[in-house]
Amino acid sequence: MLLAIALMGSVLMPTAKADGKHDFYFEASRGDAFYKFFYSTGLSGKLLKKLMRSDERAQRLNHIYPGDKFKIALDDNHNFKKIVFAPLNANPMLISYSKQEFRFVVVNIQPTQDITHSTITINKSLNYDAKRAGIEAEVIKLMVDNFSWEIDFSRDLRKGDNFVLAWDGEKTPCAMIYVGDRKTIALFAYKNLAGQKKYYTSEGKTLNDSFSFPPLKKYTRISSSYKKSRYHPTLKVWRSHLGTDFAAPKGTPVYASAKGVIKHLATLTGYGNVVYLKHGTEYLTVYAHLAGFKKGLRTGDKISKGQAIGFVGSTGQSTGPHLHYEVRINGVHKDAEKVKLSKQSFIPSSAIASFKERSNHVLSELGIK
Ligand SMILES: [Zn+2]
Repeated sequence: MLLAIALMGSVLMPTAKADGKHDFYFEASRGDAFYKFFYSTGLSGKLLKKLMRSDERAQRLNHIYPGDKFKIALDDNHNFKKIVFAPLNANPMLISYSKQEFRFVVVNIQPTQDITHSTITINKSLNYDAKRAGIEAEVIKLMVDNFSWEIDFSRDLRKGDNFVLAWDGEKTPCAMIYVGDRKTIALFAYKNLAGQKKYYTSEGKTLNDSFSFPPLKKYTRISSSYKKSRYHPTLKVWRSHLGTDFAAPKGTPVYASAKGVIKHLATLTGYGNVVYLKHGTEYLTVYAHLAGFKKGLRTGDKISKGQAIGFVGSTGQSTGPHLHYEVRINGVHKDAEKVKLSKQSFIPSSAIASFKERSNHVLSELGIK
């Protein structure tokens, strides 16, 4: 590596430094040549020749200018994986290498003053279109985890909707903005004192909700807690009880414990009248044995926290009026009385003014209102 560092003499960035994933970051200054960066990562001249001959777009790498940025990524065996080339005044280019073949993708990003941005236009699905735009899987997951508290990805997205990601040099965006036909949802990164980065609306709130417990205002008692195994009086068998039962008079209103989307509204043999609410990507709550549903509710409806969804009853396999309530995280049943659930976060009041200023700056640079 000593030789490589000597070759890097003219590079603006202090050093080309590899992190655990072997990513090397460079910024070109006057008189720099791409091959110097390439060799400094330990890659061979033979591979560089092959890269230059693989596609005419590779010629762009022979003409780099001060301010152009690169990331060269190697895998654990120090083999070449990809180059992200971000020229100061043109669309970035992603060059990946697998099965001895180079693949070139020009990413739709336009440079702005101090931030860059990528636009994903929905054609098929977020996952498909974001991948095509060269967005990394980790970032796509971040988008889905955040926006799914407000957007039902299977129903709400329309062809032509845009997601704009703004970047300020970190691996994850400094802002993520959904621009749809009917609404815009803008989220901005903020790091707390522990250095954790989360995304907040311009009001300084995360999109995820906090859950309330219990999901009804009045009940007589918890008649049966969550248990891995219990005797079922109707079926006369031992079985687990994967929910919490609230004994309450028939007709007592039942409320959504957090904002979400109705995933199912059904009448089932065991659960009777039941509502399944999905909250973000991970959480599901279930409300069973209802006497009836709140009028007008349908699968796919957005529900706010505390909204009435039905009334206590004894439908399905039930011995008397009660609400059977379940919490599931990534499909796994949890004890609603004990489990720690998602909590909404807020920007501390001491930081809110500068956060809002920064958010407005990002929006105006992107030309989004
Ligand atoms: Zn139950």
